[in-house]
Amino acid sequence: MEFKTEQYANTLSRMIRHETVSSYTEPSREKFQEFRVLLRTLFPSVFSHCEMTEFDNGFVLKWSGKNPGRSPVLFMNHHDVVEANGEWEHDAFSGAITEDRIWGRGTLDDKGGLWAMLQAADELVQEGFRPERDIWFSSTCTEETTGAGADEISRWFEEQKIRFEMSFDEGGMILYEPISGAKGTFAMIGIGEKGCADLKFIARSNGGHASMPEKNSPLVRLGKFMAEADRNRIFPNEMSPAVCEMFRRFAPYMGGAGKLLSNPEKHRAVLAKVIPVISNKASALLRTTLAFTMAQGSGAPNVIPSEAWVGGNMRYSHHQGQQGSFDAVRKLAAKYDVEMEVEDPGVPSRLADYNGHAFKLVEKALGAVFPEVIPVPYIMTGASDSRFFDRVCDQCIRFLPFQISDQQLDSIHGRNENLDLKTLVPAVQFYRTLMKEV
Ligand SMILES: [Zn+2]
Repeated sequence: MEFKTEQYANTLSRMIRHETVSSYTEPSREKFQEFRVLLRTLFPSVFSHCEMTEFDNGFVLKWSGKNPGRSPVLFMNHHDVVEANGEWEHDAFSGAITEDRIWGRGTLDDKGGLWAMLQAADELVQEGFRPERDIWFSSTCTEETTGAGADEISRWFEEQKIRFEMSFDEGGMILYEPISGAKGTFAMIGIGEKGCADLKFIARSNGGHASMPEKNSPLVRLGKFMAEADRNRIFPNEMSPAVCEMFRRFAPYMGGAGKLLSNPEKHRAVLAKVIPVISNKASALLRTTLAFTMAQGSGAPNVIPSEAWVGGNMRYSHHQGQQGSFDAVRKLAAKYDVEMEVEDPGVPSRLADYNGHAFKLVEKALGAVFPEVIPVPYIMTGASDSRFFDRVCDQCIRFLPFQISDQQLDSIHGRNENLDLKTLVPAVQFYRTLMKEV
């Protein structure tokens, strides 16, 4: 193994071995405090050179640039991870390094990103490099749960009257054939994310004994409501400009199907109909989705519930919006005498401009480090800390410079999370290039 790769792997391995699972039920400050101490020892130049501010659920670092008058830039990656369940090939918190990989929870989500970002900065500080403008770093330990840290830190920036021209967070990665038929290696650059809301649907009745059921008892009405919602007529499909741009960039690699996609605006209506039929994954980019995830009826097999409910997780599209999506599903629920409650409305995110400066800088850094990779803008269906930074940043970009396989993509929040060793050096180069260019 090359010396640099070995050094890099050892640093990341130490971050993996420090277990930092975040939990809704038992927030533990201590393990995160200790993790910050570890970061200070792993990246001594950054931490001694930059000004650090700590929060309940995260920290920020300020690296002063040559020109403090210019609006600053933010780099962010979180340091909490989700639980590791099931059997793993290498223990989830071992940080095991094998011939070609490094293993463990957080290698991809998101300690790998945090490592690459701080490693790049640490080297640049040692080399005496000074950025053109102020660069800030931010990292939270609640990304996998509530997002409280990102909320807290972004509000603090707001109070300090600090506004960023752009931010670079975790998000899409470099994938081969990210949608079926697109035969190439693409950097999936998140320019925003769908909103995520938790909804509860409640049906009531006078209850009663199961031996003399009335028609349309609560569970029956909920069932009818869910069946109709599942047919998806209430959430219109739309080829938004960002989705059109994504397909336009895939088009040259898609053979025959690429013809229709090379000018998506022209075939908007047809594509909005065809794509959902072909691909469930792509369909989620075209509309609001609603998944039913929880349910409760009565407490006994022979009792008709006086109240029954189902829970739904909604991911609202930018074109239908938060309110528009809520209204549509509330109206459908009312048809079956079902009430809707919004348990958590989520935080809608704006979209960054794929023709803007921030996106172009990412394309440039990609070109320098991964010349064969095709950059593609896309809208994330999952949530990231970035959704809270719209209030202090105009262009929030969500991308991690790691090239990963399908197995590695599935390992995020799953089993056997791992990263190829050969991706470590380019990831640092990517961040180094970006920090020099901003
Ligand atoms: Zn993450």
